[in-house]
Amino acid sequence: MGMTITEKILARHAGRSSVSAGENVWVDVDILMTHDVCGPGTIGVFEEHFGKDAKVWDPDRVVIIPDHYIFTADRHAHRNIEILRDFVRRQGIRYYYDPDFVQGEGMPSPYRDPTATRYKGVCHKALPEEGHVRPGEILLGTDSHTCTAGAFGQFATGIGNTDAGFVLGTGKTWLKVPPTMKFVFHGRIPPYLTAKDLILAVIGEISVSGATYKAMYFTGEGVASLTLEDRMTLTNMAIEAGGKNGVCDVDEKTLAYVRRRSNRPDWTVETDDRDARYCYVHEWDLGAMEPLVAKPHSPDNRATAHECRDVTIDRAYIGSCTGGKITDMIFAAAILQGRQVKVPTFVVPGSTEVHADMLRLNLRGRPRADGEPSIHDILREAGCTMGPASCAACLGGPADTFGRLNEPIRCISTTNRNFPGRMGHQQAGVFLASPLTVAASALTGRITDPRDYVDGPIDTGEAGVV
Ligand code: SF4
Repeated sequence: MGMTITEKILARHAGRSSVSAGENVWVDVDILMTHDVCGPGTIGVFEEHFGKDAKVWDPDRVVIIPDHYIFTADRHAHRNIEILRDFVRRQGIRYYYDPDFVQGEGMPSPYRDPTATRYKGVCHKALPEEGHVRPGEILLGTDSHTCTAGAFGQFATGIGNTDAGFVLGTGKTWLKVPPTMKFVFHGRIPPYLTAKDLILAVIGEISVSGATYKAMYFTGEGVASLTLEDRMTLTNMAIEAGGKNGVCDVDEKTLAYVRRRSNRPDWTVETDDRDARYCYVHEWDLGAMEPLVAKPHSPDNRATAHECRDVTIDRAYIGSCTGGKITDMIFAAAILQGRQVKVPTFVVPGSTEVHADMLRLNLRGRPRADGEPSIHDILREAGCTMGPASCAACLGGPADTFGRLNEPIRCISTTNRNFPGRMGHQQAGVFLASPLTVAASALTGRITDPRDYVDGPIDTGEAGVV
């Protein structure tokens, strides 16, 4: 019997020639990632069980990326960063991306030059940027959206602090091999859709529990036609369907990116065997799909943007690991260029690299010429409020968090979750949508089908690729 990508990766890391769905296996972990919210708890578990003076299994395979509660005066948030700094110093961890502008208490000033700090922004965006993501590897992280890295053909999943504490000490974990669901997209991506529409279609089809403890394999010509960044949006939201991991095929786009970025020289590309077994298969024709939204209060509450055309909104939000990549910013800017938003619109780059690229690149994703507006200029001139890279209001956070919904308002957002209270106020209503739909809606103050504004292909150039 053939195997899927996920099964092959798990088999190799278990030292086995094959595994089957449902088996439990011990595997070697390639990378463990943690951040400012779960890092202190993970360190606590590790030190309680392995000893205060114990050393992590491999300091070069532990990656720590503070990203959640950075631009806040909250002293507990700053304390978490101090705990990470102390641990990194004691353990000799090389890959730690310090928000060096956070010193003691008080709100840190947003930096003016995103290249002048070691800080990177949202962990799932920073991981591949900094060379920690490779095909065929196992990446675990103390964050449910760790599944994002499956876009690069690896097994990536979120784990809790207890499991992470064990991985810190041993470099191993125990996993049940998930059965694989196959989602096939035919045709090329049309200019009015992004991967966000595709994943909202999937979750709307199977529900938020439809992939519980399953591998979600996204394939077909439609996925191949996506940018690598847009594939990250697909795998990012696998967890919103309950998926154990999301995974895409490796192609030349993947290899070009990883060859340029990886801080390790070799990796193994796995592919599904012809006779691999799937527990579910569903196919879509991209040409027949429409821009979608997920209405409050669940990512599977699917409707077309057109069906929601009478819904007014109070705010728009463009950011997060799902919708804060440079290609997302280009999608939004393509619609907002030369126009003015009608509702407050908050823009948060997913990483300091995205922020720097927003300043460096033009609307076509190329280095801008003298006098030519940058992506940042276009969004700011359209009336957007621009913030520094972080998770910001995606997770609500402390009351002083940039863009947080502190009132019971209605927001359309490029983020991934719209449960009550997720972006702040319990009674706020969040509509999830693509950056195209969010930008179009920001212009009208009601949910708007981006086809009203998109009249041709949106060229993202090399943005987010190299
Ligand atoms: S941007 Fe949002 S979903 Fe992504 S890691 Fe941060 S809080 Fe989680």
